[in-house]
Amino acid sequence: MKESERVVTLPGGETVPALGQGTWFMGERTQNRKAEIEALQTGLDLGMTLIDTAEMYGNGAAEELIAAALTGYRREDVFIVSKVLPQNATRQDTRKACERSLERLDTDYIDLYLLHWRGSVPLAETLAGFRDLHRSGKIRYFGVSNFDRGDLADWLALPGGDALATNQVLYNLQERGIEWDLLPSCREQGLPVMAYSPLEHPTQHGDSLLKQSTLRSVADRHGATSAQIALAWLLHQPDIIVIPKAARAEHVRDNHAALRIELSESDLADLDQGFPPPTRPTQLAIR
Ligand code: NAP
Repeated sequence: MKESERVVTLPGGETVPALGQGTWFMGERTQNRKAEIEALQTGLDLGMTLIDTAEMYGNGAAEELIAAALTGYRREDVFIVSKVLPQNATRQDTRKACERSLERLDTDYIDLYLLHWRGSVPLAETLAGFRDLHRSGKIRYFGVSNFDRGDLADWLALPGGDALATNQVLYNLQERGIEWDLLPSCREQGLPVMAYSPLEHPTQHGDSLLKQSTLRSVADRHGATSAQIALAWLLHQPDIIVIPKAARAEHVRDNHAALRIELSESDLADLDQGFPPPTRPTQLAIR
């Protein structure tokens, strides 16, 4: 990992890059493969060595793309996060799903394995599957995703449930609901949050966040892009792991440069004005 990179400390004490890379919708089209591999490798070379994926993404195609992108890199220099679908999250099926992911990722272990969201399988089953995988060295850490405060409390109440490495949730300037109680509660537990859709997934949601005028004016002050300010706002918090997805190398470079942006008090105040923090509890937003 490059010295200049910002890191977040996991509960076990290991550090991971605060700025990683997402892969949702990657690996799905042959004509994009070369550019997507180049984008992931650009990120790896810049120190964005935490890569987030899931068995769901392209039905495993994103995991296969990662395997191709990692050719020539040392496995231990990369921190791979993947996720089991809730319908596969019984004790036995979690183990099988992980085996399939390992095969597609062409690796012996996943660094961090998450339950993608809570489904109908009892959480104790999934936890038992995670613990089996951990014991056999197939995963190094486990965690959850899309868990609201109540879900988290249920998980943490399970024997051994407190050995969680993260809760991956939707968090960006436009979706600040977690600041009301989920984020404080994760902080109380010493549980880092992994912020997904940090750019509010512009292609699907009509670019609304990146075109917002407050964001653009803060970006202009810094000679930066809106995307960089959206990322810098998340990165200025010490315990948030941020995983933008970029299928184009120029976007990856743009995102990486967000690490160099220092937001001033007045930038933060302007962003609070344009994107007010929550004033009451809201249900956890999910993409
Ligand atoms: P996102 O990272 O907020 O946005 C991705 C979009 O932003 C892509 O269209 C990308 O374009 C564009 N983009 C990236 N960098 C940019 C830049 N510098 N300037 C302008 N546009 C830029 O959305 P996301 O993919 O929803 O979330 C990120 C990752 O979080 C996912 O890929 C996935 O790994 C994870 N995630 C997890 C969950 C969950 O349930 N746990 C849900 C959603 C997402 P190009 O691709 O063309 O470069």
